[in-house]
Amino acid sequence: MPELPEVETIARGLASRVKGDTIESVWLGSKPEPLKSPPEEIAATLESRRIADVRRVGKHIVFDLEAGQNGRGRKASSRVSRTRQAQATYDPAQWIVHLGMTGRMLVCRPEAEIEKHTHAIARLASGREVRFVDPRRFGRLSVTHGFQAPGSEPLEVELERFVALFRRRKTPIKSALLNQKLLSGVGNIYADESLFRAGIRPRRRAASLTKEDLRRLYLAVQEVLKEAIALGGSSISDYVDSDGEEGFFQLQHRVYGREGEPCLICKTPVKRVVIAGRSSHYCPKCQK
Ligand SMILES: [Zn+2]
Repeated sequence: MPELPEVETIARGLASRVKGDTIESVWLGSKPEPLKSPPEEIAATLESRRIADVRRVGKHIVFDLEAGQNGRGRKASSRVSRTRQAQATYDPAQWIVHLGMTGRMLVCRPEAEIEKHTHAIARLASGREVRFVDPRRFGRLSVTHGFQAPGSEPLEVELERFVALFRRRKTPIKSALLNQKLLSGVGNIYADESLFRAGIRPRRRAASLTKEDLRRLYLAVQEVLKEAIALGGSSISDYVDSDGEEGFFQLQHRVYGREGEPCLICKTPVKRVVIAGRSSHYCPKCQK
């Protein structure tokens, strides 16, 4: 599943390719799961809009859309209700993509073969197409106005705010890190890696952590995410180009997925426990 660094890399890759282009028309597939907004509303919101930017918010890819050169967007189809039509022509709007487990965004020439499991195609004024492909259909497409992630952005949140988010919580710190209402976009791998670097056991209650523990964790979360984003930068083209091979350079995991292997610092075997249904990996000696 793409985590925050991958989504950041994909959003940057998309921005470098389609920013400034205009969506001329939209094709949507018949499978209902990937469409979180009604298909008519997605089409009416996207068509004739200029892509002002593509960015990451939490684990979502957000296309910022503004009125195209022809004014306020194509006349919505007659099936679209008056309210939806009014919403759809209200600027600016956002196209929100969540990749789920297996979702991919491709930018390709129209003659490129349409892959199985393609659920949406946005045809651009430049002649290219943005395609959403998702075999397992956990990914979601929606449109909105004024999108905001539910939690704080881990790369932008200030230390004081970070400390306040976790200070009084009775849940294990690992669960709190995964709670998207607190921090937006920290997934299982990066939570384990951050806790290792901060020297904190995943099962520790958040409320038991000192301010100093939380300061180390804050720095570790940012360090891990930034390193992974820097590594991902070199593989953007592999991900969004039309052949769509995933080519992320993974951050070398220090604990995640290394159960029983020696800790890279002290050689103690890495342990795995299940917390709130998720695997957690840690070094019993380095993490307290
Ligand atoms: Zn260790």
